[in-house]
This record gives sequence, C-alpha cells and structure tokens, in this order.
Amino acid sequence: MTEELKTGGQHGYLRIATEEAFATEEQINAILRLVKEGRADKGTVSLWGFYGTSPSERTTFIRERLLDLGDLRLAAMDEAGIDKAVLALTSPGVQSIHDVEEAKGIASRANDHLATACERHPDRFIGMTAICPQDPEWSAQELKRGKEELGFVGVQVNSHTHGHYLDEPQFDPILRACADMGIPLYIHPQGPPDEMIGSMVDAGLEGAIFGFAMETSFHALRLLTTGVFDRYPSLDLVLGHGAEGLPFWIDRLNYMFNAGVRSQRYERLKPLQHNLHHYLRNNVWGTNSGLPSPASIKLMMDVMGEDRVLYAMDYPYQYVPDEVRMLDAMDITDETKRKFFQTNAERLFNL
Ligand code: MN
Repeated sequence: MTEELKTGGQHGYLRIATEEAFATEEQINAILRLVKEGRADKGTVSLWGFYGTSPSERTTFIRERLLDLGDLRLAAMDEAGIDKAVLALTSPGVQSIHDVEEAKGIASRANDHLATACERHPDRFIGMTAICPQDPEWSAQELKRGKEELGFVGVQVNSHTHGHYLDEPQFDPILRACADMGIPLYIHPQGPPDEMIGSMVDAGLEGAIFGFAMETSFHALRLLTTGVFDRYPSLDLVLGHGAEGLPFWIDRLNYMFNAGVRSQRYERLKPLQHNLHHYLRNNVWGTNSGLPSPASIKLMMDVMGEDRVLYAMDYPYQYVPDEVRMLDAMDITDETKRKFFQTNAERLFNL
C-alpha cells in the first residue's frame, strides 16, 4: 500500500522544498538562439541543446513544467505533499547570455513574473531573485528590489559567469548586498565553463550526473578558501545536492588547505580566521536536492549540524513522490525531521 502524501503537516511538519525551478519563454528562447548561432559555451550547448530541443518524454515534461507557475505545479506539489516551494529561475539563469542589456531585461522580467505568481499563491510559492552577475552593480540593485519590493527571500546564482567566480573582486557588490541585506546566496550548478568541461562531454558526465557538482563545489570552495566569510561573517551560502559533496571531503580539504597555507605554495591561499569546518558549520547551508539519500543527509547533519540541512526536491528535474515517502521514513528523531523539512528553511529564509 502506498501511503497518500498530504500537505498541511499531518506528520508534524510542513514540507518546504527549497530548490525548485521555473523558466520563462524569453529566457529559453534567448539561450536557444545562442546555441543555434554557435555562440553558447559548451555547458550551455549540452544543457539547453538537450532540454530545449529534445523530443524525449523527459525533456518535454520538464520544459512544460518549468514554464508553469500555476495549476500543473500546484497539482504536482499536492501529489508529493509539498506545502511550499522556494522558486528560482532555472539554470543557467541569464548567465550564458553575452548581451548584458538583454540579460538584465530577461532577469528583471522573470523576477516580475515570479512575483506575480507568488502574489497569486502566497501560501505555496516563495521567490528567489534572479540577477545578472555580468553587471554586479545592477545585480546589487536588483537584489534590493527583489527583497524590498517583490518580497523575495534569497538569490540564486547559477555558478560561474562565463568562467568567472564570485570570489573575484568585480563581484564584490553582489556579496556585499547579500551580507548587508541578509539575503541567502544559493549557488546552483550549471555546465562547467569551457576551460574545465574538457573531456567530460565525451564521457557523458558534464551535467547533473557529475560535472555540475565538480564545478559548483569548486566555486563554493573558492569562496571558503579565499576568505570571503572572514570578510562577510554574516553571509549565508546555500548549496544543493548534498552541499555539492563538500561535507564528505571536508577533512581532506581542511588538512590540505592548511598544508598549502603553511608551505606558502600558492599566492591566493592565505591563513584564515578559522578552519574550513567552521565555515561549513556557520556560513554554509546544505539541501538534499537531487540526493534523496538518508545516508548522505545524515552525513551532512553530522558534519554541518542538523540546523543547517534542508529539504529540496529539484522539481521538475527530479520529480519522484516516492522520494518524499522515503525521507518521511528516515530514522532520525521527529524534531530533526521537522527541522529538515520545515523550520530550518523558515529560519534561513526568514519565512
Ligand atoms: Mn536544481
């Protein structure tokens, strides 16, 4: 017998899904135009060349579901027992787009579109701001508009921007805006940049299966190792997919980081105020998007603390209601489960 998944908290908690994707027509069209004209990077060609054009059942389902901020999505949430979804413009946002004015327009109109959907369904939908890191000052302004005028609770950055990373000085206005306004920074994967993707495409491993986690964990680790959290101790960084594997690697990362600092082997690796564990436990939050594994979730809780681990589904890319049943049945205390599904998200996003 398969138990019905209901919303409303009859298990003792609401289920808040924190990494849920939507798209706009003009975003997809702009990206597909780049792909068609041969101007997109390899990661975008791989991701949207597939999801944007493949006639397969999976991609058709995903395209249709990404574009919907109404009945289809609500029905899926009802079926899977998801009370609230934290929504963000799907990867790569507007970060693959070369024309910065065009990119800003698409991001800003996506924010307006999402805000309208959130107003229509205030009990179900929660928004995160889309920005255009190609213009950091504009992005800082859009973050302010997202928080103050549109009621958004975070920002999703789809990892690198044309091979550049948020620890680079030109992006400082974005980090400062997040820290100053208490806006959680969710770094979500996209395809690795051309300098990194190399032989991954031939192996079929550049996407969500592996390349995403490699590149996004690298991005996050750059923030940790270059002292971003010493500069901005209040900055909240959110990572999906089991915090992109960092909790699993943390002891080795920390040991080798300290060894690298002591030997002065690299110009950029300088002593930090804390060891890397500290930042994982005080600045980083992890979701289990695309990783419905009790073993991985418990490892995250062990390493990061159970107050920093959140539920996410990754709809519509990974829509499997049975995963919710499995996580409901995890052998952790009721109190920990409530933190995981509900109260950690409420605390992080100030809901
Ligand atoms: Mn995702």
